[in-house]
Amino acid sequence: MSTATTAPDLLRPKLIIDGKEVDALDGGTFETVSPTDNEVIGIVPKAGDADAVAAIEAAARAFESGPWSRFTPLDRSHALHRMAGIMRERIDEISTLETRNSGKIIVESRGDVIASANCFEYYGNLAGQIWGDQIPMNGPLLDYTVREPYGVCSQIIPWNFPLLMAAWKVAPALAAGNTVVLKPASATPLTALILGQIALEAGIPAGVLNVITGPGKELGNTLTTHPLVEKVAFTGETETGREIMRAAAGTIKKVTLELGGKSPNIVFPDADLEEAVNGSLFAIFTNAGQRCTARTRLFLHKSIYDEFLATYVDKVSQIRVGDPLDWNTQMGPVISKQQQSKVLQYCEYAVEDGAELLHGGRRVPAEAFETGNFIEPTVFGKVSSDMRLAQNEVFGPVLAVIPFETEDEVVTAANSTIFGLAATIWTNDIKRAHTMARRIKSGNVSINFPTVNPPEAPFGGFKQSGIGRELSRDGLDLYTQVKNVVVNLNPEPFDWYGRWPADPRS
Ligand code: NAD
Repeated sequence: MSTATTAPDLLRPKLIIDGKEVDALDGGTFETVSPTDNEVIGIVPKAGDADAVAAIEAAARAFESGPWSRFTPLDRSHALHRMAGIMRERIDEISTLETRNSGKIIVESRGDVIASANCFEYYGNLAGQIWGDQIPMNGPLLDYTVREPYGVCSQIIPWNFPLLMAAWKVAPALAAGNTVVLKPASATPLTALILGQIALEAGIPAGVLNVITGPGKELGNTLTTHPLVEKVAFTGETETGREIMRAAAGTIKKVTLELGGKSPNIVFPDADLEEAVNGSLFAIFTNAGQRCTARTRLFLHKSIYDEFLATYVDKVSQIRVGDPLDWNTQMGPVISKQQQSKVLQYCEYAVEDGAELLHGGRRVPAEAFETGNFIEPTVFGKVSSDMRLAQNEVFGPVLAVIPFETEDEVVTAANSTIFGLAATIWTNDIKRAHTMARRIKSGNVSINFPTVNPPEAPFGGFKQSGIGRELSRDGLDLYTQVKNVVVNLNPEPFDWYGRWPADPRS
C-alpha cells in the first residue's frame, strides 16, 4: 500500500524544555511507527526522570519569575491567537503527520487541526475575561474574589486525538496564566512536539510550555508526584486515572480526569430512521472507534430492530477501509498491533457470550493490509447488557446492538456500566427526548445528533468516566483557584483585646 512508509526521511524531533529543543539528558530514544504498516517514521527522545524534573523546574521558574508572570491577559490572548494562526498555516503538514503517526484518516486529522486552532482562539478570547465576584457583606467590609492560576500543571494525554487533546489542555491552562509540562502518549508523540515548537514561534516565553516524550509509568510518576506541580490533568484509561489519583494524593494536587466510556446510542421508533442510521454510523466508526465518546452500544427498539439493522449493516459493509492518507478512505487502522489483538479478543468474547456477528469481526483479509493494524468495521446483534462486549471499553470499530422494549428498560440498561461519558437519543417526541436526557447518567447527551464537542460546551464524565470538565468556561475555571480578599472599611480602629471585656449580648 502506498503509505507513510514511502515518506522520505525519518523524523528526529526533540524535547521542548525551557524554550529549547533538546535531546534526552541520557541520549535515550524510541521509535515511533505508522499504524498503517508499522514502519518506523521517527526517532523520538526518550525522556527520563531527570528530563521531567528539568521541565517541571523550568515551568516553575517561568511561572514565578519569568516574563510569563508579567504577561497581561491581553498579551496571553494575542499569543494564543498567534498559535492558532500558525496551526492554520501549517495545516497540511500537521494533519499529514497526525495521520501518519495515529492512523486516523486525513479528513479527520484536518478536522482535528481546525478544532485545535478553534480551541486556542476560543481560550484566547477568554484570557481577558477571567474575573471574580464582589460579595456584599453584613458589615463595613469590602469582599471580592480573584481567580488565580495554579502554577505548574502536568498534562498527560492519550493517542487517539494527539493534537486535539493537547489543545484542550494547553489552551485553557495558558489562557489562565499557568505553565505546563505536556506528555503525549508514546504511540503518538509527534504533533505534541510540534505544538511546543509553535508555542515558541508564537512568542510564548521559555519554560511556559514544555513537552516531554517517553514512558508513561516512569514520567507519569514524576509528573504526578513532584512537589512543584500544582495540578495534574489527565486523559486516558480509567485504570490509569485511578493510579494518577493515588499518586497525586501524596501532595494533594488538584486533579482533573477525562477517562473511558461505553456510551449508549438509543433509537426510538418515532425517530427519523434514515438520519438515525447515518448518525449511528458516524457515532461509532469515526477514528476507527477509538473515541472515548464512541457510541459503542446501539439500543434499538424491538419494533424497528430488523428494518434498522438491514440498512445499517449494508452501509457498514460499504465503509471504505484503507490507507488513511488517501482522501477516499473512510476508516483507517487502529493504533497498534496490541490494540488490534485486544479488539479482536473482544470479538471472540462476544461470540462466546452468545452475540450474533452481523458484520466484520476480523482483520481486513487483503494481503495489502497485512502489515498494518486494520480491522473490519464490526457489528454484533442480540447483545445483552451482561456480556463483556456491553460492559468494557473496547476502543475499536466494534458495535454492540441491544434490543429494548420500554423506556424504563432502556434507561436501566444504558446506565448499567461503570462509565457515564456521553449518550445519544434519537426521537422526534420532544417530551421523551428531554426526559431521557435527564435520566441518562452521563456528562454529555446529544439529541438527534451523533457526537460533537465544540469548545464552547463543557465536556466530561459522570461516574468513572472522569472528574471535572474540559472546554467551555467550566474548563477554564478548573485552571484557576479562587482567592478571597476582604478589606476593612470600618472607621473605628480594630482593637479586639483593648476593648475587653466584650459582651456580645450588649
Ligand atoms: P492510557 O491511560 O494508556 O495512556 C494515557 C497517557 O497516560 C499516555 O500518555 C501514557 O503514557 C500515560 N500513562 C500511562 N501510565 C501512566 C501512569 N501510571 N501515570 C501517568 N501517566 C501514565 O490511555 P490511552 O490508551 O493512551 O488512551 C485511550 C484511553 O483514553 C481510552 O480509555 C479512552 O476512553 C480515553 N480517552 C478519554 C477521553 C475523555 O475525554 N474522556 C478522550 C480521549 C481518550
